[in-house]
Amino acid sequence: MTEPMLRPGLPALPPKMRGLPIDKRGFPVPAFVAIVNGEPDHRIVEPSWLNVCVRDQRCWLCGNALGAYKAFVLGPMCALNRISAEPPSHLECARYAAISCPFLSRPHARRREAGMPEEKKAPGGVMLERNPGVCLVWVTKTYRPHRSNGGVVFRIGPAESMQWFAEGRAATREEVEESIAGGLPILQEMAQQEGELALGHLEQAQHELRRALDQQFAQDA
Ligand SMILES: [Zn+2]
Repeated sequence: MTEPMLRPGLPALPPKMRGLPIDKRGFPVPAFVAIVNGEPDHRIVEPSWLNVCVRDQRCWLCGNALGAYKAFVLGPMCALNRISAEPPSHLECARYAAISCPFLSRPHARRREAGMPEEKKAPGGVMLERNPGVCLVWVTKTYRPHRSNGGVVFRIGPAESMQWFAEGRAATREEVEESIAGGLPILQEMAQQEGELALGHLEQAQHELRRALDQQFAQDA
């Protein structure tokens, strides 16, 4: 019997992800992936998985028990509204997703929409349909589920640490700033529609994010 091999070019799996199946193309199949017609479809979330993760404190990606630190993989805009459509993962699993996920790690990749099953539901909350290019692993000790637009999203607690990635490597500050600046007008427009309070929150979040960036990139320099 031959075990399916990991696709060449993909980084080696972190220990916690080594129990995951590998699909025919050589991609690991994270625990959230739905099986459609007997094959895993990475674009579709298994509907029951989110509740299992929240109830049993399991990792979104590898399915094993989470510890005290929870890692969210976020686009730069979610670093400002501190909301994730997905529950958290282990740091090592989140880092792997940030480095190897084709959509997140290749800024010019487009989301593949062709051949999507009809029953695919929009995730809870408002999704910003732009390719962020840069992504962030946000580590926190706290988060809480929050009902939004008939679905569930997750409000993310204060950051214990942050790591930014672009194209499968650590992002430069310039890339991070460019990515934030590119999406900010959308968030500002949304906040404007919501009113003064939302605008105040956005300003505060920008301030906190800038401070975190100053800290991170001062350490790196
Ligand atoms: Zn994990």
